[in-house]
Amino acid sequence: MSKSVSLRTYFCLIVVLLLLLSCATTGPGGKQSFIIIPTSQEVDIGAGMAEQVEQQEKIFGDTVWQNYLDGVGQKIAAVSDRKDITWHFKVIESDQINAFAAPGGYIYFYTGLLREMDNEAEMAAVVSHEISHVVGRHSIKRVQAALGVAAVYQLVFGEEGASDVLNLAVGVGMNLLFADYSRDNEREADEFGIHYMVKAGYDPQGAVGMFEKLASLGGGGDYGVFEKLASSHPETQERIRNAKAQIARMQPLPPGITLGKERYTQMLQRLPTKQQDQG
Ligand SMILES: [Zn+2]
Repeated sequence: MSKSVSLRTYFCLIVVLLLLLSCATTGPGGKQSFIIIPTSQEVDIGAGMAEQVEQQEKIFGDTVWQNYLDGVGQKIAAVSDRKDITWHFKVIESDQINAFAAPGGYIYFYTGLLREMDNEAEMAAVVSHEISHVVGRHSIKRVQAALGVAAVYQLVFGEEGASDVLNLAVGVGMNLLFADYSRDNEREADEFGIHYMVKAGYDPQGAVGMFEKLASLGGGGDYGVFEKLASSHPETQERIRNAKAQIARMQPLPPGITLGKERYTQMLQRLPTKQQDQG
């Protein structure tokens, strides 16, 4: 009894110590947050998840599309507040209308979502949103919370059995991949996302267009719609209002921002047709 209490106290002290030591920039304007799991471990967890995703899903075979998404992704990541990781952007061939981010900068887009977008700025809005979840450490924080203190302690200190803990963390992360983020995390990702897309040269109207499009797709489809964006209508309307208000505060917008309509229209022709349309 006394041994387990002292052990628990020890764990708590270590965690408090780490809380004090691991302060990271997690958003625009030098926003700081406490992070327990260090970046190297976060990247290991993300890499393990990426390996599983790529075993389970069909990576789209069009290198033109892969390079296009990666180019847009790297451009936005370069102006984000996270430069301590290597970013990866890949297209999955599937009719699902979704995109997701694993910790450590592994971001995936489904062709089903790309097909719904009308211009590069709309795609960039989703890219920026997913990048923001990684910048805000939302993706690693929910893995951290689900793992619990003892497992995080083992993971961070790399004690005996640490590779088992890494596998456990990857499994926990996979289970959370399509789980909802908290509303606060979503608000933050929306806000950072609009900030980053404008910084990268995109018209933030793309974010409004993207939200409105996905909202209109909601309701009883066979496929999940982007992070279940359209599943709760009032919340989606709130996100659209917030986006418009943020854009109003950003006036005047920098010159030369673009929607990238022409380029995207060409890229749309390279996407596979919808399975159900093929009969
Ligand atoms: Zn989100």
